[in-house]
Amino acid sequence: MTGGSLLEKETLDFVRDLIRIDSVNTGVAETIGDGETRAARYVQERLADAGIEAELVEPRPGRASVVARIRGREPAAGALLVHAHLDVVPVDETDWTRPPFGAEIHDGFLYGRGAVDMKDYAGMLLAVARHYAREGIVPRRDLVFAFLADEESGGVWGAGWIVEHRPDLLAGVTEALSEVGGFSVPLSGRPGHDRRAYLVATSEKGVSWATLVARGEASHGSRPRDDNTVVRLARAVAAVGAHRFPVVRTPALQRFFDVFGAARGLAFTDETLAEDVESLGFVAGLVGASTRNTATPTVLAAGEKTNVIPAEASARLDLRIVPGGDDDLRRTVRAIAGDDVDVDFGRWWSATEAPIDAPLLGVIQRAVGEDDPDGVVVPYLLPASTDNKHFARLGIAGYGFVPLRVPLDFDVFAQFHAADERVPVDALAFGARVTERILRTA
Ligand SMILES: [Zn+2]
Repeated sequence: MTGGSLLEKETLDFVRDLIRIDSVNTGVAETIGDGETRAARYVQERLADAGIEAELVEPRPGRASVVARIRGREPAAGALLVHAHLDVVPVDETDWTRPPFGAEIHDGFLYGRGAVDMKDYAGMLLAVARHYAREGIVPRRDLVFAFLADEESGGVWGAGWIVEHRPDLLAGVTEALSEVGGFSVPLSGRPGHDRRAYLVATSEKGVSWATLVARGEASHGSRPRDDNTVVRLARAVAAVGAHRFPVVRTPALQRFFDVFGAARGLAFTDETLAEDVESLGFVAGLVGASTRNTATPTVLAAGEKTNVIPAEASARLDLRIVPGGDDDLRRTVRAIAGDDVDVDFGRWWSATEAPIDAPLLGVIQRAVGEDDPDGVVVPYLLPASTDNKHFARLGIAGYGFVPLRVPLDFDVFAQFHAADERVPVDALAFGARVTERILRTA
């Protein structure tokens, strides 16, 4: 990155420093250290150095988030929230060829947990905020920068806590920008003369973790009975797992199909959908999961002794909900499970959906175009969920766009939560430039 600007240099430095702060979120309170708070302090200090005041909130020891506001030129325009989580998922070091908290650079790639999820964006945001302060740049809208704890375990102590206890920090916010999107993927799939599409998440699937329970009487294994809890549960689990929900053409999904269909000569009709999605290469995994509701059995619990039929057998389901698909999913899972297996849906998060034609998307397209004139910004439906679901409760329209221009064969989404998570160093510089333009002109 010789000749790079200070903005680009600081971005790389900050991303590397943040990767070196081990902020693993195991999801189990007793095993979580103070990494998030150390990362939050790091951010707060870099902002303070640049004269930007930031508030650190720490609802539990070690679980800090930090929020700062930069005033815009047009106070009447709604504020834009830009957020990045500071926690990362655990690592199994034996699967890594580089130290996961080493932030080493090899062959143009920066390696480390958080390289794309999402200390990359945290570093970009921090560098952009300092750039504005240094250069005296006043953005159009108020910008709220949030660096958050706990996203990887549901955001309870980060975004969720702020929405519930400190909504004042988000006063006037109408839109949000964060993960998951912004990375480039091949648009036409024609090697040699392809253009890049930059996916922007305008919608996120909802999530619920449900439990199936078969209840009965404990009895001796030597005397089989027709209402065996294990058999009833297994039947329900197999049926739920085999069920295919109908395709739901949400606006984000349909726009994705329209743009990729035109570029690749694909129709994405109901009949050709599976085949057409499959032909998208590594993008298929991301898009395929977004086309319908899913109910995936993940955990089984029943019995401890081979000669005892247990009184209870249970299974957990990971449910992912398309926009508007709540009732269908609930009704269908209940119907498939049948009358002799109980269904408990637990906490239910509906999908989020933001307008796919908002002016913000035009801003993003122009910001990308200055670096990549052939690049096309394309809405899609993220089949997972992020902190945007918390902010949606305040009526904030959330988008996922962390700009990364990467080689056509590099699958950014496959890096999430993976061993050897890595990001091209020059993609970080691109992301810093594009993010700087987006936030200045949004
Ligand atoms: Zn993430």
